[in-house]
Amino acid sequence: MAKKYLNYINGEWKPASSGEWSENRNPAHWNEVVGLFPKSGSAEINEAVAAARVAFKEWRLVPAPERGNLMKKVGDLMVERKEDLARDMTREMGKVMAETRGDVQEGIDTAFYAATEGRRLFSNTSPSELRNKVNLSFRMPIGVAGLITPWNFPMAIPCWKSLPALLCGNCIILKPATDTPLTTQHLVEIFAEAGFPKGVVNLVHGGGSAVGNALVEHPGVDIISFTGSSEIGKQINAKAGASLKRVSLELGGKNAQIVMDDADLALALDGVLWGAFGTTGQRCTATSRLIVHKAVYDQFTEMLIEAVSKLKVGDGLDPASNVGPVVNQSQIDTVKSYVEIGKAEGARLVVGGHQLDKGTYKEGFFFAPTVFTDVTPKMRLFQEEIFGPVLSVTKVKDFDEAITVHNDCIYGLSSSIYTKDVNRAFRAARDLEAGITYINAATIGAECHMPFGGVKQTGNGHREGGWAVYEFYSEYKTVYIDFAGKLQRAQIDNY
Ligand code: NAD
Ligand code: MN
Repeated sequence: MAKKYLNYINGEWKPASSGEWSENRNPAHWNEVVGLFPKSGSAEINEAVAAARVAFKEWRLVPAPERGNLMKKVGDLMVERKEDLARDMTREMGKVMAETRGDVQEGIDTAFYAATEGRRLFSNTSPSELRNKVNLSFRMPIGVAGLITPWNFPMAIPCWKSLPALLCGNCIILKPATDTPLTTQHLVEIFAEAGFPKGVVNLVHGGGSAVGNALVEHPGVDIISFTGSSEIGKQINAKAGASLKRVSLELGGKNAQIVMDDADLALALDGVLWGAFGTTGQRCTATSRLIVHKAVYDQFTEMLIEAVSKLKVGDGLDPASNVGPVVNQSQIDTVKSYVEIGKAEGARLVVGGHQLDKGTYKEGFFFAPTVFTDVTPKMRLFQEEIFGPVLSVTKVKDFDEAITVHNDCIYGLSSSIYTKDVNRAFRAARDLEAGITYINAATIGAECHMPFGGVKQTGNGHREGGWAVYEFYSEYKTVYIDFAGKLQRAQIDNY
């Protein structure tokens, strides 16, 4: 019998009142149940929100540098456990160990950044219009934050949300994806060990429509931060709008790498292999479109086909694997359906295109790294997020067409251009419609101390990461101090 894990509410570990459990399985060996997690519902959310509201009264008064000291402990504990955390993450969602170690490292970096932010949380002071008066502003905590996360970065994304939210003085309720509850469990164990007061950090496991929705609808929740699909993001935004919650949405992407005629092709090849097939293409910033100048199109696609057919697909725990499994049956079905769509639209399938289901592959959800060439911007293959190991290649005649074709897309998360021409590089940085542009690097590789997020349908304008996310989790209080000892009317007595 697999181990049963518990919710964490008001400083106590407890099962769900439903008495039901859901299985967390390993996508490389579907028979392996990694753990059983409580199937919670609105009862647990009500309890967690009540606890968080009480805890907020005290937590908001703890000095930010002191809150920062707890973040430092969280980071230190993650450093100690990095290898175990990475192994469990690979077991529950599949990506190769080099990448799950990177995912944990991103959590560690975020914790240490949060620790130092405790000594900043800067706000502005400004002169007054009037004599004997000063104007100050403070960054105030907001209240209770509901944090809803996807399965593809089970440590980094919960850390991106929870650490800044806590540092700013908010209390949190974490709702991890049902495919990857174990990594978030480990994170909350670390929070508990670091010594956060009870009710400040809460964890409620369960499905999106039960637990996630209960958070979104609860009047005691002030903030929702959601990372996931655009479809669910839109629903959440509409519901949360009804109660004027502050909402951050990080949604889908359809990221492109551009390769110009003057690019270092070997470098561009390393970039696209990493960008398109790292995390089995299941990254919000994955390279899904490759836009290539006609002068190097034939040569570059030939290099690409050869390299992609050599990628080794396998269990992420095996150091020889380059590409792990797809996360579950439903993602396999999505990937397969896009291969059929691509063929029907007239794109040319040049590598992969099929599930791997012989030998040990039979035990999990493996898909051959796939490339389509002759893809045109009108095709669904070019326009829609697939979230799997499928790359589309499109030919363009010049730089201007590359930019136009790139921007012909509803999403705008990450983008990349390979060129040695500094003028083109800066024009691309200005004109590519995306929240992130890489010059001579792959579409993936965000660092935790820089703003992260997308334009257009990728989100609603907020950013994770860096200083920007601390703006999201705090709000300004403006304070005027008048020491004139007599009534001074702004806009009147001074004119
Ligand atoms: P998903 O939208 O299915 O689920 C995300 C989370 O929302 C899960 O915890 C889920 O349980 C919860 N949820 C589902 N329905 C809900 C509802 N009605 N109310 C409240 N919560 C609900 O996404 P996923 O399949 O886990 O992740 C893949 C998607 O996430 C992709 O579209 C990808 O692009 C996106 N993503 C975006 C970023 C980014 O930063 N932009 C990062 C990672 C993933
Ligand atoms: Mn799993």
